[in-house]
Amino acid sequence: MQNRISNILKDVTNILLPISCFGCNARLYGGEVMLCTLCRHQLPLTEYNFNEENAVDRIFYGRINIKKANSFLFFTDIGIVKNLIHNLKYKNQEKIGEFLGDWFGQILKKNGHLNNIDYVIPVPLHQKKFRKRGYNQVSLFAQRIAFHINATYADDLLIKTANTKTQTKKNRLGRWYDNRSLFEIRNSDMLKHKNILLLDDVITTGATMEICASSLKKIDGVGIYIASMAFVQ
Ligand SMILES: [Zn+2]
Repeated sequence: MQNRISNILKDVTNILLPISCFGCNARLYGGEVMLCTLCRHQLPLTEYNFNEENAVDRIFYGRINIKKANSFLFFTDIGIVKNLIHNLKYKNQEKIGEFLGDWFGQILKKNGHLNNIDYVIPVPLHQKKFRKRGYNQVSLFAQRIAFHINATYADDLLIKTANTKTQTKKNRLGRWYDNRSLFEIRNSDMLKHKNILLLDDVITTGATMEICASSLKKIDGVGIYIASMAFVQ
């Protein structure tokens, strides 16, 4: 009980003013934000770019015709990235998305591979889930990337219409058919002949991205790029 209370207090304090590292829980010292220096250096950046073929592209081969896929980090079952994403999604640490978006966005800006993107769109949450969490964990990540690559952030064009969990246990084809009507496009005229960067937190099987992308593909001349904070190898 004592432990639980002290954990809760720690969470509350961390929302107001993060004092411990979201990667390893160590105390943060002057100048350290979000991550301690050690975790910052150990963060497993994929260093993939939008020019060469990579492992994230291969997740989507033969499933959906997209221009390019990429991920900022490698996701593993234990470690810094898992802790970061967990805090972002379940501990009200929305700012982690901003932190990752700024980092990734600056890299993208520097290598100039995504200077043709018109809209940056986060994978939407269903309204119910949005209300429960209070924020879409991908929003700030997407906003910061849009800022760096000079694109328009839009979270009102792709809407989640049903609150069904992505069925990760089924085979790829089955999953797609089960979920294909979960997302809806609004104002599709705005997206005609545009390049869209679709963003999510973690790509595991690629199912969610595949469903979103296939909804967007119905629009004339649309080009789809996919990226995420992290992906499971
Ligand atoms: Zn740390």
